Amino acid sequence: LAESLESAWVKLRGKDKIKSSNIQDALKEVRRALLSADVNVQVVTNFVKEVETKAQGANVVSGVRPDQQFIKIVYDELVKTMGETNSPLANASTKPTVILMAGLQGAGKTTATAKLALHLRKENRTALMVATDVYRPAAIDQLITLGKQIDVPVFDMGTDANPVEIARQGIAKARELGVDTVIVDTAGRLQIDDRMMTELADVKAAIQPDEILLVVDSAIGQEAANVTMTFHDRIGITGAILTKLDGDTRGGAALSVRAISGQPIKFVGVGEKVEALQPFYPERMASRILGMGDVLTLVEKAQEDFDIADAAKLTEKIIEARFDFNDFIKQMRLLKNMGSLGGLLKMIPGMGKLSDGQLKQGEDQLKKAEAMIQSMTKEERGNPDLLASTPSRRRRIAKGCGYNESDVSKLISEFTRMRSMMQQMSMGNFPGMGGGQPG
Ligand code: GDP
Ligand code: MG
Repeated sequence: LAESLESAWVKLRGKDKIKSSNIQDALKEVRRALLSADVNVQVVTNFVKEVETKAQGANVVSGVRPDQQFIKIVYDELVKTMGETNSPLANASTKPTVILMAGLQGAGKTTATAKLALHLRKENRTALMVATDVYRPAAIDQLITLGKQIDVPVFDMGTDANPVEIARQGIAKARELGVDTVIVDTAGRLQIDDRMMTELADVKAAIQPDEILLVVDSAIGQEAANVTMTFHDRIGITGAILTKLDGDTRGGAALSVRAISGQPIKFVGVGEKVEALQPFYPERMASRILGMGDVLTLVEKAQEDFDIADAAKLTEKIIEARFDFNDFIKQMRLLKNMGSLGGLLKMIPGMGKLSDGQLKQGEDQLKKAEAMIQSMTKEERGNPDLLASTPSRRRRIAKGCGYNESDVSKLISEFTRMRSMMQQMSMGNFPGMGGGQPG
């Protein structure tokens, strides 16, 4: 017990600062993760460089390796870059709110139009969908079919009318019907194409949308950067919908779209059905992009649970050998809050070699120790030496917690030994440990 606690303690001390030298591997790992999540190369390079600069000199959280801490910084920055909280749809003060859908053919615009209409209804907002894709008769039918399915009206003028005119009259129709929001579906091309952009710009000029949503298929990966740049330059998007996230893409397009346009991803499409729309959550996307759930969990828990000021006080107490049972209990609870002790120790680098049996044993011993400490008086907890010198106190404690007096004696002697070892370690000596670096 004492031994595993001691080594855990070494890891929990942490006094390093993040330096370029101790995050090189992590940098590479992050770069690789972002690229394999299909974030645009240029976006990756800029992003990683910026985060590296920010991270230099940051204090390493106790118990976490600098490289892991760096990954947490990357994660936080990723969340921040992608918009922290999810941003809602425009809701104009003069009705109707006008939403223009833009994007390449096959991105999911028509599907997303219906998904949005359904979403609005859940917020008690009525909608009218406008079909301006006159190039493919099937596109108009598709929207009409979707409209029937969700019971939302569709405005169309067939395939002979001009998209700008359809959009204009669609808005007029919405006013007449008194609906809250008009969603204008548009035609896309397989590639970025000047005619499509011009038409979109003309529609925009005619209807002055409150919201222009770029619909991006998350599976286009690297290409998302180009698409975003072109659409944003030509028509100025106010947000994006990332579709087909139900597939196995890691969603790197989200970072590209956001980094390049500066506009939020508002929703994600997660299936072909009209219900398959979700608000965009930057945290979820950041985890998905990094694909590093476990490391992040550890780093986050460590940050939540370890109060830096507390740590400083504790170090002082240890140096002066004033570490008492109250501190001991506190540390133990801390470890417990961080998950099962076994799980935690396993996540700490270099501790993975403990067998499950050893871990279980360690956990059981800690439980036993906690029970004994709970039977101590406040005075005894604050002054463990009282116990070393008074057998009657040890007997009372043993009775209180249901263990033997010898168990209590053992706890006290181990505690005393640990306290002096911690004192020595905190002063830079590593008795019997060969002076190895943690990690
Ligand atoms: P548009 O050309 O941009 O209007 O694209 P569509 O809305 O017609 O969608 C193209 C194809 O992608 C259709 O087969 C849709 O069912 C499908 N689709 C759209 N969104 C999603 C999504 O979020 N997940 C999946 N799996 N398929 C989608
Ligand atoms: Mg369409």
